[in-house]
Amino acid sequence: MNGEFESGAGAPVGSGPVCRARLRGGGRCALPPSPGKQRCFQHGGARGIGAPRGNDNAWKDGFFSRVEIAERRRINDFIRGCNAVLERIDAQMKADPDWERYRATRRLRP
Ligand SMILES: [Zn+2]
Repeated sequence: MNGEFESGAGAPVGSGPVCRARLRGGGRCALPPSPGKQRCFQHGGARGIGAPRGNDNAWKDGFFSRVEIAERRRINDFIRGCNAVLERIDAQMKADPDWERYRATRRLRP
């Protein structure tokens, strides 16, 4: 193909992180990412690629800064945790033999 690895072809065996690049053919790159990067050396993970650390030439509001990204991830993980708890509670309630009768009196979602 175009010099890129199709997923599965020439891929390192085993698990572990994999390059996040999407290929033109629609597949995923199967190479391991470069150390400290999310992409392999072929897809932008090579050493010396990218803006130098601390470069703020394109800084607008910091939405994509490491700190902001980490904070959003922290909040989203927390929300996912809350939703998981609610799902478990929901499942327990619906497993109750009296659930249908209770639901009918409260107009709750099925
Ligand atoms: Zn890659």
